[in-house]
Amino acid sequence: MDHDQESGAGHLLLFPFLAQGHLIPFLNLAKRIDSLGQRAGSGGRRSLAITIVSTSRNVASLRRAVPAGSSIGFADLPFSPSDHGLPPDAEGADVIPLQAFPAFYFATESLRPPFEKLVSELAAREGCKNVCVLADIFLGWTAESASALGVQHRVFLTSGAYASAVTFSIWLCPPTFPRPANPDDEQALFDFPDVRLRYVQFLNMVVTEVRASNPMMLYLCRMLNLHFHHSGGLVINTSEEIEPKGLHLIGKLSGLPTFAVGPLIGGRTPSDTPPDGDVCIEFLDSKPPASVLYVSFGSQNTIPASQMMELARGLEASGRPFIWVVRAPVEFDGAEEFRAEWLPDGFEDRVAAAAQGVVVRQWAPQVAILAHASTGAFLSHCGWNSVLESLWHSVPVVSWPLMSDQLFDSRMLEELGVGVEVASGRMSGGLVKGWEHVRDVVETVLGDGEKARDMRQKAAELKELARAAVNADGEMKGSSVLAMERLLDSVFG
Ligand code: UDP
Repeated sequence: MDHDQESGAGHLLLFPFLAQGHLIPFLNLAKRIDSLGQRAGSGGRRSLAITIVSTSRNVASLRRAVPAGSSIGFADLPFSPSDHGLPPDAEGADVIPLQAFPAFYFATESLRPPFEKLVSELAAREGCKNVCVLADIFLGWTAESASALGVQHRVFLTSGAYASAVTFSIWLCPPTFPRPANPDDEQALFDFPDVRLRYVQFLNMVVTEVRASNPMMLYLCRMLNLHFHHSGGLVINTSEEIEPKGLHLIGKLSGLPTFAVGPLIGGRTPSDTPPDGDVCIEFLDSKPPASVLYVSFGSQNTIPASQMMELARGLEASGRPFIWVVRAPVEFDGAEEFRAEWLPDGFEDRVAAAAQGVVVRQWAPQVAILAHASTGAFLSHCGWNSVLESLWHSVPVVSWPLMSDQLFDSRMLEELGVGVEVASGRMSGGLVKGWEHVRDVVETVLGDGEKARDMRQKAAELKELARAAVNADGEMKGSSVLAMERLLDSVFG
């Protein structure tokens, strides 16, 4: 551990799951707590020590993303991916092939002994009641460790409340979801009878149909149960204004007090400020306001090769400008070099020559793209961070959810009036209506019609609500700032 801040006011150990979509919100949570602590510092309320716990590569990249002068500290735990049959540098879910996910999830439990050593040393130094572990939902064993070591524990849920409640309910529900005679029939969930879904959606939300004997499903359920049994509360990256229903459902399912402290969005740090001359930003600079479609399936997901072809055809046929972050189709190793044959013949050259599109490999500066005035819509897999970043920057969404919680994030965006679904599912379903459908939906969302105008209006309203929730100024304190204060009071008194 690289800082010895002994504030006496409490020490938070933040422990994200090893994946970009988890590390980023944990870092944003640390920054938020740090900035609120500094704000309250002059009044003498509290000055907490914050340490982010991860493996060495992740710590190195997080460290670069922390603003100068921040008091956030880091602790790295030894981790040897090759001991678990994984590539030696596999310290994040985004760099391993999808089929290796189960091995990777199981491997993270090997962090338990060094983590427990870290916690017990800290507790010995600072006192048990002054230490709280704030860990990822996929690291349920930390709750058992905290309970055994006599320190406090809270879970931090980096996905949305509504989609998590539905997903967890499906994972934990013992009987299988019966296959209906008509695949379009909707069935009610056991825990939430007013939430209904089709069989194909169910298939995309579970790791396997035969849950009872699937090791990955058993692992995930064990993590949830450990948290629900041992933890003292559920901290969620959402706000009461965005997800009132979701917060009610997840509180009911977990039996834990909930603290909606979001949205936690990346600030302008060196890591999310694109370098000068960034191809995406230059493209956006050359286009009119709200005209460009940004296309990305997040940090680790991708679509099948045949659907990549259809998406390309639909984008080109829409005639609308676009930025598309591509990675190898599902059937290939994610680390593989992108091949021209995965896109229609001559596609990249044509869209570049017409100044219609930019195709970026693997990664783009998403937050900066969404913040740019020329971005008009986001074709997204609806990972929760992407959803929040869209709401934060009032960018309407063309949704293409692939799996688990993403399906219900997409449903929520439609219910909020800022999303239109173009396709759904990766293991089953997907883009069933072909490239013409992509073209038509892009036009619905980016065009001049009533639907597009309504979506833009709704997105502008939600942006105001999202920002008001995290307003930390005096009389106007937002709901999420108050929730953060309640959380810290519940932990350190
Ligand atoms: N991200 C990015 N550039 C990319 C892909 C992703 O900056 O090319 C960031 C994005 O801004 C978000 C996170 O990575 O903060 C992805 O999280 P999300 O929950 O949306 O999806 P996941 O990757 O976890 O499926």
